Amino acid sequence: MASISDTRYPPSYYAASANNPLQAPALEGDQETEVCVIGAGYTGLSTALHLLEQGHDVTVVEAARVGWGASGRNGGQIVNSYSRDIDVIERTAGARVATELGAMAFEGGRIIRELIDRYDIQCDLKQGGIFAALNSRQMEELTRQKALWERYGYKQLQLLDGDGIRDKVATQRYVGGLLDQGSGHIHPLNLALGEARAVQKLGGRIYEQSEVIAIERGVRPVVRTAHGQIRARVLVIAGNAYLGGLVPELKAKSMPCGTQMIATEPLPDTLAASLIPGGECVEDCNYLLDYYRLSADRRLLYGGGVVYGARDPADIDRLIRPKMLRTFPQLDGVNIEYRWTGNFLMTLSRLPQVGRLGNNILYSQGCSGHGVTYTHLAGRILSEAIGGNTRRFDAFASLRHYPFPGGHLLQAPFSALGAWYYTLRDRLGL
Ligand SMILES: Cc1cc2nc3c(=O)[nH]c(=O)nc-3n(C[C@H](O)[C@H](O)[C@H](O)COP(=O)(O)OP(=O)(O)OC[C@H]3O[C@@H](n4cnc5c(N)ncnc54)[C@H](O)[C@@H]3O)c2cc1C
Repeated sequence: MASISDTRYPPSYYAASANNPLQAPALEGDQETEVCVIGAGYTGLSTALHLLEQGHDVTVVEAARVGWGASGRNGGQIVNSYSRDIDVIERTAGARVATELGAMAFEGGRIIRELIDRYDIQCDLKQGGIFAALNSRQMEELTRQKALWERYGYKQLQLLDGDGIRDKVATQRYVGGLLDQGSGHIHPLNLALGEARAVQKLGGRIYEQSEVIAIERGVRPVVRTAHGQIRARVLVIAGNAYLGGLVPELKAKSMPCGTQMIATEPLPDTLAASLIPGGECVEDCNYLLDYYRLSADRRLLYGGGVVYGARDPADIDRLIRPKMLRTFPQLDGVNIEYRWTGNFLMTLSRLPQVGRLGNNILYSQGCSGHGVTYTHLAGRILSEAIGGNTRRFDAFASLRHYPFPGGHLLQAPFSALGAWYYTLRDRLGL
């Protein structure tokens, strides 16, 4: 049974400002391929591109449209490292795995820039990102984060004190911050569309509006859609938060969460320039964080909030606009022109889950909020593993995957409790 009911792009600012839509047919009839990738978000597209560049034969099957999922709806922030940082990996997985993963923590952002350059992708790339501290504890964490990333060889960071961050962001909310010159932001849907065009240019096949409704496992696995099927040597599962129940093992250890965004009308030049004069993207250090940036046409794109269990919020403006006005009261009276919601996939450890189902089905999922860079890295390491070099894939696969306590039925209430706990922690500044 199909789990994705509406295959149109959501009414986002990104869909309204997308470059020419891709022309891709729906799957019909029987096909054979070497590698079949399920899902045309960044994970699937990056895997396909890396494989095609190495001469493999690749077919991507997408339930809706290219970039229809989180990859075409997100904040566009190129955030380095992982949702839990390398020190957590050091503590939980040991020094060897931490060294391997730490060496890869800044690679995803480089991959994005390489792809943009190599395939001339028009997606408004802008350099620079800021982590903003709301209290002194968060500032201490940022100071530790800088030292940690520098220990792993990353040198593009600058701490900002109170005056420093007020020069960068026109709000009184922050006590300081951390500027990452190697971060930045992009128009996320246009990045996905550009990657998909590159896949097609390299001879890869993409089928849209072709939801995989069954997988037949075996020596040569088969994916079935309503009107066709593909037999492959290897399958890559890249459906992330939109995979539904297609692969029960993956559903059991992850949970889709919704987060919402709004886009203002284009702001007058002087107002836009006064908000974030350097044009960086910004995210605060709360667990349930606010994230925002200016678009190329001077809108403020503001996101935040987490709705567990991926329910659509009744009124996104009511949820997100007050957050925006708390940061920028000077935007009172500015119109909101777009609002949308999207799902990312949470894991209990908040680290990604990478692994195999049998010999010939590989997956990567659950980057838990920060996925723009990780998914691009994931595509590279999945392609390496399919090509026979499993060292980096195995390092990720060695991270423990925890099932959600109480199974799938209890995931939403459990996490609502978690959200309540973390909201309280954020409010108390703990
Ligand atoms: C609103 C929002 C804001 C975010 N902001 C940021 C940010 O600023 N920075 C950051 O680093 N991360 C951010 N994230 C997270 C980031 O967008 C995701 O981690 C990342 O895009 C996940 O990519 P993906 O390819 O794994 O999944 P997706 O992009 O969700 O792609 C999965 C695709 O698989 C398809 N699919 C699923 N099931 C099937 C099936 N059965 N058959 C065929 N196709 C299927 C879906 O239709 C979908 O297109 C945000 C997420 C959201 C929702």
